Amino acid sequence: MSLGNVQGVVLKSINLGESDKIITIFTDKLGKIDVVAHGARKPKSQIASSTLPFCYCKFSIYKGKNLYTLSQSQIIESFQRIIMDLEKLSLGSYILEMIDVLNEKEAKNVYMLGLLLKSLYLLSDSDVDLELLKTTFEYKIVSLSGYQPSVLNCVKCKSNEELHFFSITDGGMVCDKCFVNKGMVYELNNSELDLLRTLRNIKLEDLRNINYNKLNLKRLDEIMEKYISYYTEREFKSLNLIKEIKRS
Ligand SMILES: [Zn+2]
Repeated sequence: MSLGNVQGVVLKSINLGESDKIITIFTDKLGKIDVVAHGARKPKSQIASSTLPFCYCKFSIYKGKNLYTLSQSQIIESFQRIIMDLEKLSLGSYILEMIDVLNEKEAKNVYMLGLLLKSLYLLSDSDVDLELLKTTFEYKIVSLSGYQPSVLNCVKCKSNEELHFFSITDGGMVCDKCFVNKGMVYELNNSELDLLRTLRNIKLEDLRNINYNKLNLKRLDEIMEKYISYYTEREFKSLNLIKEIKRS
């Protein structure tokens, strides 16, 4: 058995037996791991509060033959303000689900952890526009996952002129010369393309300082959702919750 200390965010948890849990943590040193938390559902458990989704903690773990086991934990940030607000909770759940789905087990990725933590702190502590955060997060996470769309040049001929179409199937902007009207293609106006490029360049901490048109953002959000589902071949359960809350 080897004992080690990691820091990470709890992505999800499932019950095990009568009083235990298996938690999935996205950690700094080991990437995404599953950890058994013995007794975490007992009323007097010392570790219970650190096994809840969103919790950012220091964890002492050891590895048996197959599984990691939690021995101690210390909360760094529980992100209560996310959990207390239904809109923030729905976006936060989507962020955790995306991190879970787009990361293989035990593949360390400090950039991805940085993106996760910045997003959660921003969601928790600021009045950032949630739709802007959502679309920016989507752009950043697909880029870190190896599916960065080409938005500066034509994905086919590399020209940077007459870029008017975003092709999901080709993976980015297509110029007028290369445009073929088939597959999942969206015509973008200049301000939509500008906003798309802003999502590419902006740091999350600067999101509160940008001006943008809500309708442009809505369109890009729709495109990013389709882009993600095309490349991950997945449906995200928490996305339905976001849409339901918006409708009500
Ligand atoms: Zn072209």
